[in-house]
Amino acid sequence: MATEAWQQALKESLIDPEQLLGWYDFDPQPLKAVAARYPMRITPYYLGLIQAVDDPIWRQCVPDLRELSDDGLADPLGEENLSPVPAVIHRYPDRVIFLASGSCASYCRFCTRKRKVGCKSMSISFRELREGIDYIAATPQIKDVILSGGDPLLLPDSVLGDLLARIHAIPHVEIIRIGSRVPVTLPERITEKLCALLERFAPLYLNTHFNHPRELTPQAAEACARLIGSGVPLGNQTVLLKGVNDEPQTMIALLRGLLRMRVRPYYLHQMDLACGTAHFRTPVATGLEIVRALRGPVSGLASPHYVIDLPGGKGKVPLQPEYVKRRGEVLEIRTSDGELVLYPDCRG
Ligand SMILES: *Cc1c(COP(=O)(O)O)cnc(C)c1O
Ligand code: SF4
Repeated sequence: MATEAWQQALKESLIDPEQLLGWYDFDPQPLKAVAARYPMRITPYYLGLIQAVDDPIWRQCVPDLRELSDDGLADPLGEENLSPVPAVIHRYPDRVIFLASGSCASYCRFCTRKRKVGCKSMSISFRELREGIDYIAATPQIKDVILSGGDPLLLPDSVLGDLLARIHAIPHVEIIRIGSRVPVTLPERITEKLCALLERFAPLYLNTHFNHPRELTPQAAEACARLIGSGVPLGNQTVLLKGVNDEPQTMIALLRGLLRMRVRPYYLHQMDLACGTAHFRTPVATGLEIVRALRGPVSGLASPHYVIDLPGGKGKVPLQPEYVKRRGEVLEIRTSDGELVLYPDCRG
């Protein structure tokens, strides 16, 4: 089969820190050991978004020595204990994560699954895909299947189409979701052909992963518009990253820009405790500060849920600044201007 433009772009991606030397002046030698432990891949398109060494795009995709000195948790979300079969994570009764692919267009240095993505141990076999489908088919409480990975959109159209068709054919599955960073790092993957394929499996939602306003390019906007044109509603999950998007003004620019592209901000994730990612972690107070900065000045439509995924498979918990306090029969609710309002709460 002919190589498509996006597959060619993947082949031309940078996988060794030394390859950055043609563009940027820095010492790649110490970073080779980092890339040997946690793979590097940067698409030509995403490389083009870097403007300077250590800028917010660079930090997301170029290996950093600090990755090696951090001994966090290998499996911070306890996912491996929640896997009835290798490709499925089943934590909530009605929905599962289906690990459909072991690789990504670009490897994010802050990834929660960085111990696995891009490595041999993460490559997912056809047998594992089949076992995953069989598990879902045999478990009637599953109504929502979230394709994740790795990045499911790195699968060739034929494999992806076959997988979607099999999941779509399971009578109790009501919706399918895809989690993909491809609109951010490899927008040329969002071809007309792919969109026509996805359209056949409605209702199908796609959550993408923009972290910085500079990622909101005309190419990314076109990719999103093509998906929306094919009836795929778009959401966005952002990870709160130190030195990338932990300033309220940066976050507000990102969220507003997403809405202009018709992408609905869904979650703002507190960084989890994955090994090799500590240099990206902010205190929870920073996230609460941002949530506070959004309330009032920014439309509710642009405001994601700020969530923390607790270690050990305990699940996501929404985090909110203390707005509400009970005082006998009434609630004290603090407005975004800092005013205390007494609200006669109903007694249920
Ligand atoms: C986040 C998550 C989901 C999806 O949760 P929603 O809140 O419905 O988006 C499903 N399974 C696992 C294991 C998750 O971590
Ligand atoms: S695209 Fe997602 S799964 Fe892949 S490296 Fe980035 S955060 Fe991890």
